[in-house]
Amino acid sequence: MAHNDRARQLLKGLTIVTVNGTNQVLSGDIAIMDGMIQAVGPSLPADPEDTVLDMEGMLAMPPFVQTHVHLCQTLWRNMADDMSLIQWLKERTLPLEAAMTASTVRSSVLLSAAELLLSGTLLVNDFGLAGLVPDIARAVSGTGLRAVTGRILMDLHDGPPQLRQDASASIADAIATQREITGLPDIVGCSINPRFAVSSSMRLLEMVREAAGQTRMAIHTHASENEQENELTVARFGARPIRLYEKLGMLGPALRLAHCVKVDNDEIELIARTGTKVMHCPSTNLKLGSGIAPIPRMLEAGIPVSIGADGAPANNNLDMFNEMRIASLIQKPEHGPDCMPAWQILRMATINGAAALGLQHETGSIEPGKRADILILNPHLAHSTPFDDPVPAIVYSMGRENVRHVLSKGVFVVRDGKCELFGIDSAIAMAQMGSRDLRRRSSIDFK
Ligand SMILES: [Zn+2]
Repeated sequence: MAHNDRARQLLKGLTIVTVNGTNQVLSGDIAIMDGMIQAVGPSLPADPEDTVLDMEGMLAMPPFVQTHVHLCQTLWRNMADDMSLIQWLKERTLPLEAAMTASTVRSSVLLSAAELLLSGTLLVNDFGLAGLVPDIARAVSGTGLRAVTGRILMDLHDGPPQLRQDASASIADAIATQREITGLPDIVGCSINPRFAVSSSMRLLEMVREAAGQTRMAIHTHASENEQENELTVARFGARPIRLYEKLGMLGPALRLAHCVKVDNDEIELIARTGTKVMHCPSTNLKLGSGIAPIPRMLEAGIPVSIGADGAPANNNLDMFNEMRIASLIQKPEHGPDCMPAWQILRMATINGAAALGLQHETGSIEPGKRADILILNPHLAHSTPFDDPVPAIVYSMGRENVRHVLSKGVFVVRDGKCELFGIDSAIAMAQMGSRDLRRRSSIDFK
């Protein structure tokens, strides 16, 4: 953008959904200096050297934070449908992950970044791959998307042999990956990712715990996604996943658990007491027939649940607007229409996500002193008018069509509904080619 980097930017004329501690909504302006939010308030005075951006009639909110996604699975969107979790893994996802190359990683990440940014998500917690994670990180770096990513570990499974690695070797590689990707632009963390208990030996899980402690990496994994996963975990370890992680001393703020659909009240209590993070993936849980996670009970227990779209082959989009709407609506038949109100959902989709990644002091709300990460929505569309009460409008009636701009640290990464840093048409064409290449090289009979 054509302005002096040292000049202050003033975004004028907004309705600002701050997502601050008191859920304040105000009419006014946002002042940005050196990439940080300097002030938020009504009619901020403009200095002559300010770059003033007229945003009259637009809504501003923090961009979405998705805490469980698979950037590398997007190439098999619409190719793994109508299956249950274990079948979906064995027949599609594991063989396709095994067939990924540096080139297909890049095309999958670009496609994912385009979809995520254009639907208002700026920060993701990615599950990575069992290799090629530096390629993921380098591809993310040029897009404007921000990500935590890491290496997947699996030492016990009957899937593709190249995904089955000895515990010591894969831990060493996870640590080397952390060293390699730390410091890349927009890579905000590296985690260590045992896929789930079902594909892990006790030795692997113990080594993950030790390595995470030594390297200060968070542990990102899937837990209690469906009954079959719980049963397979009991058969191997004599305990369901949450109890197993308790026994291993792994529960705590550095453990990030995706799904938690089949958890009982005692397990919820354990998760809450230890500060363990829960990432809710409502579309995936419905589409794979896994169930409906007991999120109202978790919130009541004090767990600050966040949200992720999971992988495109299980969803089949990476769009937080879909996830917010579904996360709210699926709980209402059982718990009543006042359950999961719009404000609670919006916090889960923004500040709770930032908190799950330990980044709540720098992003996740529009407040002075934070990064100028800002999502600008155009509410003046047929499907979202009237919008006088902006929070229910955002959660229940808006969609990606409302996304106008996304700013990351004061820099436009989406402007007027287009990615600023890469071409969407070439990303789509590359992904279509990459997907065919991947399909050819995999051993799957798609019929
Ligand atoms: Zn997942």
